[in-house]
Amino acid sequence: MTTTGIGAEVLERLHAILGEDDAVLTGRSSRFNRARVPAPFPVHRWEEFIPDVVVLPRTAEQVSQIVKLANEYKIPVVPRAGGTGLADGAVPMKGGIVVDIKRMDQIKEIDLVNNTVTVGPGINMQTLNRSLKKHGVIYPDDPASYACALVGGRIGTSGLSLLGARYGHTRDLVISFEIVTPTGEIIEVGDGGGRKIRKSSTGYHLKHLFMGHQGTLGIVTEATLELVPRAEAEFAAFFLFEDYETAYQTFSVIAKSGLATLGGVMMFDPEKVEYLRRDDEAYIIQPDWVKAVCAASLFGTKAEVEVGAQKVMELGRSLGGRYIGDEIAAGDWAARHDRYANPLHGRDKDGKVVPMSWHCEDAAIPYSEVPEVLRKWHEIAQRYVERYDIFDDWGAFQYTNGAHKPWGDVLVEIDMGLWEDRMDEESWQAFVSLKREIAQVAIDHGGSMSSCHGATRAGDAELVPTEMGASWEVMKTIKRALDPHNIMNPGKQSLDEAYEEVAP
Ligand SMILES: Cc1cc2nc3c(=O)[nH]c(=O)nc-3n(C[C@H](O)[C@H](O)[C@H](O)COP(=O)(O)OP(=O)(O)OC[C@H]3O[C@@H](n4cnc5c(N)ncnc54)[C@H](O)[C@@H]3O)c2cc1C
Repeated sequence: MTTTGIGAEVLERLHAILGEDDAVLTGRSSRFNRARVPAPFPVHRWEEFIPDVVVLPRTAEQVSQIVKLANEYKIPVVPRAGGTGLADGAVPMKGGIVVDIKRMDQIKEIDLVNNTVTVGPGINMQTLNRSLKKHGVIYPDDPASYACALVGGRIGTSGLSLLGARYGHTRDLVISFEIVTPTGEIIEVGDGGGRKIRKSSTGYHLKHLFMGHQGTLGIVTEATLELVPRAEAEFAAFFLFEDYETAYQTFSVIAKSGLATLGGVMMFDPEKVEYLRRDDEAYIIQPDWVKAVCAASLFGTKAEVEVGAQKVMELGRSLGGRYIGDEIAAGDWAARHDRYANPLHGRDKDGKVVPMSWHCEDAAIPYSEVPEVLRKWHEIAQRYVERYDIFDDWGAFQYTNGAHKPWGDVLVEIDMGLWEDRMDEESWQAFVSLKREIAQVAIDHGGSMSSCHGATRAGDAELVPTEMGASWEVMKTIKRALDPHNIMNPGKQSLDEAYEEVAP
């Protein structure tokens, strides 16, 4: 055995597959840096999550051989893309091989006749769109993590785009992809058949099975993506409210406007406004009467956006909302990809700035249930804030969730600060039960505990069987059938249960 816990023979075979000295990493810093993601982490137990080895393949054939080797030795395999996932999806719960796909970042084909682009999974949307600019098209998957999340991770999580109401989310924008299955076969999946086909009635729509599984059903090695014309014009408006209820109604009025150019609608609740006022140096301070903020964005041709903007201004003010002014409207919306630093600090009870990490619970909730869910969430959060001095309630926001049909359920996210430096096992377990309580409320109200980040970590993972109901049995059967040795990202979503029940 080597110091990494994987046998020398396996390492030798990995070197032979990868063929480059720096493509098989066993050094401490290479492995420790790929043990965690930017979500709260039990730092006191870091050692438990260290991969034995990190590999950086360049081709699907190499990925296939790595996975076949892992099956032979029953070694866990965890795909890692940008490592920005907020639900621990890329954290190796049981060590093993981390397959870092960053070197698979080629643009393989730009097809301007069929409006598709085919890429490796290691490219980020910013780099891709820079190359597409000269062609007048864009791949419009636009998360706040736009510059750091990679196409492979977007597929792995089935992410939410901030422009989803207009252009769709990751699952709508990825037309088809190549994936290495848990037993090492290389297959193509789409909405039926055809790499560039958006709608087919042949066979099963396997694209959806192999998307959002958080690396538990294989590793994406290539993807064919949707291209749309670059928007000629963009517009964003923010409205201020004296109370939550009026903002909540205004959000709904804008979401139901039927405007085809609507990119998304967003809203901050009173707790979020208070947090921003207290703690976010980038926030442009608003008068004390401001208790909630609602915003909308539009994308399209100049003519479309001009008309749409008038409508949004009218609807935003229709129940008493006050327009915030151009500085925030343009500036804050434009800064939506630059939010990394703000959540890295919080304040202790005396108002002193302290390092904190950011936890967000990202449920999808039917619109009618949102006020009650938020009331319960803040009550739960408050209980933990009072009992442990390492948590803080950073308020909640909501965002339109349905692609092209933004009027029903919404993504509702409660953000919490967590003072990691002070965390011990007792407070880590408290954090896990806090998450579980919050997720349970979402399920109780007919929602899903995760809209985009995934139910892949302690606290949520235990509730996957509850949320899935009778289909949980089908999920386990699929996992067992495709991954007989449970090598793909084990320890996630309670899926290990699929193997506990079968006789050896
Ligand atoms: C500041 C900030 C803002 C964010 N805003 C948003 C947002 O607006 N919308 C949103 O949806 N998310 C958001 N996120 C969360 C995160 O960016 C997304 O979940 C993103 O999709 C993860 O991509 P990644 O490349 O970082 O993947 P990783 O974190 O590396 O991996 C995510 C999951 O996918 C799996 N995976 C990775 N590569 C592959 C592959 N090739 N094949 C199969 N599975 C794979 C991993 O095992 C893991 O389970 C935000 C995160 C941060 C830090």
